[in-house]
Amino acid sequence: MHEAQRFAWVLVPSSHREPLIYRVPDLLSTRLSPGMRVLVPLQKRHVTGVLLSFADESPHGDVKEVSQVLDDVPILDADLLKLARWMAQYYLASLGNVLATMLPPNARRDSKRLATLLQTGATSTDTLESALLQEITKRNGKASIKTLTGLFSGQRIGRALAELEHRGVLGINEHLAKIRRRKSPLLSSAVSNLARPLNLELNAEQALALDRITTRIDQCGFETFLLHGITGSGKTEVYLRAMEHARARGRRSIILIPEISLTPQLLDQMHRHFPGKVGVLHSALTSSDRWSQWWRILRGEVDVVVGARSAIFAPLPEIGLIIVDEEHDSSYKQEEGLRYNGRDVAVVRAKQWGCPIILGSATPALESYENCRQGRYKLLELTKRVEQRPLPIVETIDMRYQFMKAAAPEKPDEAAQKQIIKPAKARLMAESFIAAIKQNLSAQRQTLIFLNRRGFANFVQCSVCGHVWHCPYCSITLTLHLRHKALACHHCGYRRVVSNVCPECKNSSLAPVGMGTEQIEAKLHELIPEARIARMDRDTTGKRGSQEALIRRWERGEIDILVGTQMITKGHDVAGVTLVGALSADLSLNLPDFRAGERTFQLLSQVAGRAGRGRDPGRVVIQTYTPDHYAIQYLPNHDYKGFFAVEVEFRRALNYPPFARLVNLRFDGPRADQVEERAKNLAAQLRQLQSQEAKYKRGIEVLGPAAAPIEKLRNRYRWQLLLKGNSSATLLEFAGHARRLLPDARDGRLQIDVDPYSML
Ligand code: ADP
Ligand code: ZN
Repeated sequence: MHEAQRFAWVLVPSSHREPLIYRVPDLLSTRLSPGMRVLVPLQKRHVTGVLLSFADESPHGDVKEVSQVLDDVPILDADLLKLARWMAQYYLASLGNVLATMLPPNARRDSKRLATLLQTGATSTDTLESALLQEITKRNGKASIKTLTGLFSGQRIGRALAELEHRGVLGINEHLAKIRRRKSPLLSSAVSNLARPLNLELNAEQALALDRITTRIDQCGFETFLLHGITGSGKTEVYLRAMEHARARGRRSIILIPEISLTPQLLDQMHRHFPGKVGVLHSALTSSDRWSQWWRILRGEVDVVVGARSAIFAPLPEIGLIIVDEEHDSSYKQEEGLRYNGRDVAVVRAKQWGCPIILGSATPALESYENCRQGRYKLLELTKRVEQRPLPIVETIDMRYQFMKAAAPEKPDEAAQKQIIKPAKARLMAESFIAAIKQNLSAQRQTLIFLNRRGFANFVQCSVCGHVWHCPYCSITLTLHLRHKALACHHCGYRRVVSNVCPECKNSSLAPVGMGTEQIEAKLHELIPEARIARMDRDTTGKRGSQEALIRRWERGEIDILVGTQMITKGHDVAGVTLVGALSADLSLNLPDFRAGERTFQLLSQVAGRAGRGRDPGRVVIQTYTPDHYAIQYLPNHDYKGFFAVEVEFRRALNYPPFARLVNLRFDGPRADQVEERAKNLAAQLRQLQSQEAKYKRGIEVLGPAAAPIEKLRNRYRWQLLLKGNSSATLLEFAGHARRLLPDARDGRLQIDVDPYSML
């Protein structure tokens, strides 16, 4: 064996670890290669690490030995390790954090230290020792040190345990747990029996797009295609054919979709096209199912992988094509832990590996469309719905006018006066929209109603003194959920019962303000009792599988009216839907976010696209208080390009993406003054750095610091600092200094968000 290969760099997949060097025993050395997992001693335990590389030279001092090799083939191949290194650099994260994000949770098999009771009934005169013995006895004579440390936090249990061990009352040993297997319901692989014409003949636009893509697949060359196709233009058909083409050339594909449980139809299609050859990776799977999917994929047993964001890390060999459907969707952005964008990582993976990638959308992200204009991406367009089906007719209703009509005094309702909560005065739905729903129902057609807020009312206010209930942990008003008679925080989950007395002025005159899906559902039951009405939002889909069950009922036509949040806007293709309503369409416009216009246009286009996908034409009604806003104005003509032209000029004028790049630095902590001070200090240090270096002075803007729009979240105060730059390299280099200026940034008090999506 080569002398140099007797030592290896091993990294434990966890955010705060650096690679460590270990000796490789001769017996293991022939079986070991980079990307495999090994079990290594670390402090008093054994933990799982990934072998990064063999060391070039022998280290000094005492070096511990690798104790086991856990894989027979690398769990991360050279290409995934390369992608991991790119991510660590680009997202200013540790490589350990990246590996922890990439690998399925079961990949780590760490030992535990266990305390075992050796003398039953043993006691101690020391209070801490006797409490420890009681706890261990309660747990059938065995408890992990980690559990005990948690239970007795703040107390010095180490010495007490050592004392008990010394007296022979306890034994303390290291224990390596077996991987437990638990069965979880995989999303049904049973194909739904909705008949679908196969062997469709592609139309000219589809055929042209497919031809461009397959040419690249044959060349095994990298190219990013932006497939801009209006809703119902047959993008999915193009994806399927391109994947089939890749398979015929002996290559495999990955397709990312925003939320797999919301689009069971796509999974059906995949299973039909590639029976027995579909790998699935998403968060609704249990750890052990993810683990077995991972190994099926790694061993080359599947031809295609379907999944959400994290499926971009699928260890798929011989990739011929990557697809990102609904590429503009914000769920590709991970908002906790490692803040990466799955779409952007997908493009890098395709580039590093050398294969084409398709980004598909009816309303592309501004960044992607601009990349086409700059010639970096190749634009492929599908401008017509399949089989010349018409696009739905979109009309906007100006609710300012509707509100004036509704504000006329209504007959006082005595029953309502006595209720805790009086009904809202403002019209929820315009008369003409209600008439349209009734008409659609009598024609036996389905209606979809979108409102991007759950609960009954946005908040509850005392009409005497104006008091509004806020979350005690977040700077957010509490939302009223009437069915559960509760006020709930939509950020941290805090709940309290609604009382009918104001805590401030002791009057009982409380009024709900604003509307949510629960109220719309209740109103519809009252207005159209004969209709079969269902609601789909996070409150009705808590249980595993309940989302899919609801969508299946909707597909089968067992629901006449479906009310819901964003969840209902995703790509289901249900032919019976001929009427779509969007209520409070401007809710998302009023957020303090430069992408508010883009998000609103995308969301409303997508919800509108659910209408008229069958043979019958569709109608879309948009209720808005801002009918003149450009995010609303381009909807009736389904005019993405018109919208883009306005939006892109706004971005250029304010120097926002796609023209500038952003890095958000966010501090959070339990004390407002400390958080503020830390943010101000860092800002001052960064400005100092700017004054010393010309390229930073010219190329970087430091904005803030300022309290985040949501100042307090889960009892932690938040301040942020936004860095803006026109060169990505200079910006990342500059943001890298921020990380070094605060060496304890890893503990989460400073979160670095490269290409941020949400800055609330
Ligand atoms: P998109 O993803 O662009 O919204 P889909 O791919 O879901 O659209 O296509 C909409 C419907 O049209 C699907 O039912 C699909 O089977 C059908 N379809 C796709 N291509 C064709 C075609 N060339 N001729 C007829 N029907 C088609
Ligand atoms: Zn809260």
